[in-house]
Amino acid sequence: MMEIDGGTELTGILGHDISYTLSPAMHNAAFRHYGLNWAYLPLRVAPEGLGAAVEGLRALGFRGFNVTIPHKLRIAGLVDCLEGDAEMLGAVNTVVADNGMLVGYNTDVEGFRAFLRELGVDIGGTAVMVIGAGGAARAVALAVAREGVAEILVVNRTSERAVELAEALKKAVPSTEISVRSFDREGMHGAGGCSLVVNCTPLAEMEDLPLDRRDFAPGTWAVDLKYGEPTGFLRKAESWGALTAGGEGMLLHQAGLSFRLWTGKEPPLEEMRSALQRAISETA
Ligand code: NAP
Repeated sequence: MMEIDGGTELTGILGHDISYTLSPAMHNAAFRHYGLNWAYLPLRVAPEGLGAAVEGLRALGFRGFNVTIPHKLRIAGLVDCLEGDAEMLGAVNTVVADNGMLVGYNTDVEGFRAFLRELGVDIGGTAVMVIGAGGAARAVALAVAREGVAEILVVNRTSERAVELAEALKKAVPSTEISVRSFDREGMHGAGGCSLVVNCTPLAEMEDLPLDRRDFAPGTWAVDLKYGEPTGFLRKAESWGALTAGGEGMLLHQAGLSFRLWTGKEPPLEEMRSALQRAISETA
């Protein structure tokens, strides 16, 4: 059991609906592993309260915090500065408090790459489809570009946001071909041939996504960033012959990188993975 006392250092996750979050289980297990008197809390805040919440966490001396849906983009304008991938993407999932200064990072990019390596997926030289253009999609698109893909297809409900993401990627990774497809089945016709299709939206069912079986040749990977029970999207893709994975691996690795930023210690990934699996089976 964890004990909270007057000396406990605080971290947590800022999100709107975070009833589903599994991050406290992973981070608190990691703190326990090192015997650190630190705690990780769920921090619920609606979009209109985000600015006040960030100033509140600064005033309360939080050591850092994660940021999740729907705040990852807006928070980039509320911290004092952005580092590395957060600056490149304008999306933040981790904030580190450094002597009262709030620094925004993005660990989703390298978290997704670590997850692909663990799966043994080699996408170098292939085409990849990214569905979505929000904070997670931006991170996934940059991650796959760094893996050396030849082409990225960006598909999003709001086409302006897809175009915005494509423009940012063209600047960051000029050698990768980037194209934008419309979010309807007609627009997607003939888009097959991707080695990896990543669902970066909260839509869980294949029927709600602009995809059909032509997008899943045998051996295509279908990844859904949602975690927990396999989504309808993953189940259908598997029935069409795709290899599938949920978002747990990315969740684990981005958390490990956040832990390292806050504590300077190597993340105890196996303890964090076990805590994540326990939390998933308890919520199933
Ligand atoms: P976000 O910034 O709010 O972006 C949401 C994206 O989903 C946007 O592209 C949005 O399209 C699209 N979308 C939302 N509702 C839709 C609908 N009804 N129809 C069509 N498109 C819709 O959120 P995010 O932070 O990127 O998160 C996206 C998902 O990834 C969430 O399910 C989140 O839990 C998951 N995630 C998982 C991990 C992990 O570690 N496994 C990490 C990050 C996120 P518009 O632009 O048209 O609004």
